[in-house]
Amino acid sequence: MHAGNGDRAQWSSGDEEDEEPFVNPEQAGYVGFANLPNQVHRKSVKKGFEFTLMVVGESGLGKSTLVNSLFLTDLYPERHIPSAAEKIEQTVKIDASTVEIEERGVKLRLTVVDTPGFGDSLNSVDCFKPIIQYIDDQFERYLTDESGLNRRHIVDNRVHCCFYFINPSGHGLKPLDIAFMKAVHHKVNIVPVLAKADTLTQLEVVTLKRKILDQIDDHSIRIYPLPDCDSDEDDDYKEQCRQLKGAVPFAVVGANTIIEVKGKKVRGRMYPWGVVEVENPEHCDFIKLRTMLITHMQDLQEVTQETHYENFRAEKLASGAAPAKPKPGKPMAPIARMENGGIGNGDYNDKERELRQKEEELRRMQERLSRMQAEIDSKRPQLMHNGDLKSQDV
Ligand code: GDP
Repeated sequence: MHAGNGDRAQWSSGDEEDEEPFVNPEQAGYVGFANLPNQVHRKSVKKGFEFTLMVVGESGLGKSTLVNSLFLTDLYPERHIPSAAEKIEQTVKIDASTVEIEERGVKLRLTVVDTPGFGDSLNSVDCFKPIIQYIDDQFERYLTDESGLNRRHIVDNRVHCCFYFINPSGHGLKPLDIAFMKAVHHKVNIVPVLAKADTLTQLEVVTLKRKILDQIDDHSIRIYPLPDCDSDEDDDYKEQCRQLKGAVPFAVVGANTIIEVKGKKVRGRMYPWGVVEVENPEHCDFIKLRTMLITHMQDLQEVTQETHYENFRAEKLASGAAPAKPKPGKPMAPIARMENGGIGNGDYNDKERELRQKEEELRRMQERLSRMQAEIDSKRPQLMHNGDLKSQDV
């Protein structure tokens, strides 16, 4: 975090003094999505991956810089930074840029949705409405496409992950941060990010991280729950999972400049007292954040499909809109894996409603059956009589 000196202790959440250094599983110069084939079926590899990442947070927190650093690309070549006067009037603009990145033969169609203007306007409370609208619009589009004829070639523009940038100079989460996260936590996977971590000392990072986690807990905000790794995974992977979980909210530093440190070219920020290396796990959690994103890309897509999208579909169903048929092999009901129970409640109610309707149908069928039975019983003597006659005839 400070001088570009490799001897520094790495970030820790305070109580893991003898923690192993975080090992970057990727080679320098690679983002790491070439490893995605291990996560999914070969078919999707041929097609390429579709992933949408949304970045939200006050302007100036380094969102664009971080995204460019993450994907080693310039996603915003023609960016216009609004003036202060423009900002006062500004409503939140949704800015979606799509790039196709190819690494070792694996294609990733990445859409980054930036939300310039968030928190800029004087009327901040309304600033997340366009964001919610955008997320819903993508679900709606998917729902329409899914019920259409060309279901095999749907472009998935649903937002799979949202990096929420927290201001390092506030004393934890602000009311706007809390309100936003609460408004979207059942729609999108939130990954909280502590921005510009180079402006904080190591101790401040640890204290602020803990405070943010406490606030998240106190306000029952459901952030993306990193899944537990299986007990049969190897120890290195288990350690990586543990460290990734321990790093939330990821304290990051972004930079678009390449600096030479000890003869090595690194992405970093140069200060009078030294260089902050973005990709040095001892300086910040950038590599952990990127590793989390890459290694959990499929899980983030699955939680989007099985929890958030199903929540949306259930709401639509409840409001009387025509349901789309689920994809073959896709579950109707969500696997509400989000922690603390609450997130699946909408679906649970919907399932319950569906069950009640089925019960009601069953009850009506039983009534009809009993009526038919009663009718048969009342005609039985006559029938038997006829039968007797017949047998006599024979
Ligand atoms: P955005 O409005 O959130 O997209 O922020 P930008 O990426 O445009 O960054 C705003 C300013 O903060 C620029 O001058 C960046 O160089 C600077 N910046 C970006 N990331 C960092 C960081 O991690 N630490 C520090 N100290 N400054 C940063």
